This record gives sequence, structure tokens and C-alpha cells, in this order.
Amino acid sequence: MHDVAPTPKTIALIAHDNCKVDLVEWAEYNRESLRPHRLIATGTTGSVLAHEVGLEVTCLNSGPLGGDLQIGAMVAEGTVDMMIFLWDPLEPQPHDPDVKALLRIATLRNIPAACNRATADFLISSPMATTEFQQDRQDLPATREFPLQRAS
Ligand code: PGA
Repeated sequence: MHDVAPTPKTIALIAHDNCKVDLVEWAEYNRESLRPHRLIATGTTGSVLAHEVGLEVTCLNSGPLGGDLQIGAMVAEGTVDMMIFLWDPLEPQPHDPDVKALLRIATLRNIPAACNRATADFLISSPMATTEFQQDRQDLPATREFPLQRAS
């Protein structure tokens, strides 16, 4: 299925605690590029971005309290166009299974996703960030074939 990702886009933002300063600095630098878009974020990340950078952000649950899964569900439903996820490569998280799930569904659904500042700079400065672009979201059926074989 080819979806046209419209503009403004819905951008999901998540940063683990050791990466929040990095995300704030990145968002300050890119404030005017981010402003036209719909921004959603896990709870603490979103409130830090709102207070420190002055961006309007819809805050979901905090990551360890289900926020990553909420964003993952939106990715699965096709309502997220881009994801900036600064996850901490040096520290285990209590919600590591949720982190893995979010990265997995974003890859499966072919969402442009940045896991470090350099890639985030490439994404937000791409001409595709401000134009409509065809996004191959994969032609995924809602269900899978499963031949149930009962013991007779
Ligand atoms: P937080 O969650 O924005 O609530 O800190 C981020 C995360 O740890 O996934």
C-alpha cells in the first residue's frame, strides 16, 4: 500500500533520560522546522520539549508507563509519519521490551526513523519533510493465514 504522507506530518519524539539534553538541543536548533508539524511524544520527553523549547506537543504516557506502546500502536495504524527516537545504547531500560517493539513496528511499517541526532538532522532537513511523499507502508493484511489443525 502506498500512502501519501501529507504535510504537516505527525512526528513522534522519544528520548531516554540520558538522551533528553541531546533531544532538547536538537529541537532548539530545529525549532522552526518542527513547529509546523503535529508533534507527539512520550510523557516526560514531551513536557521537557514544551517547557524548554516552547513547542506544542501532545504528550502520551511516559515511556516506561506505556508511552512507547501507544506510539507503536499509532505507527501500526499508520498515523505516524516520522519518528525521532533517541534511545540510550549504554543503559538497560525497565521497558526494553517496549523499546524493541516500537523499533520493530517502525521498521516493519517503513516509517522514517532516526535513532541519533545526525540521522534526525538528515530527516528534518529532507525536502520530503515538507512535501507530500509516497510512503510504501507495506501491504500488510489485518490477519494472517493460519491453517488450524485440530487433533481428530
Ligand atoms: P519519557 O519516556 O519521555 O516519559 O521519559 C521515554 C522512554 O523512556 O521511552
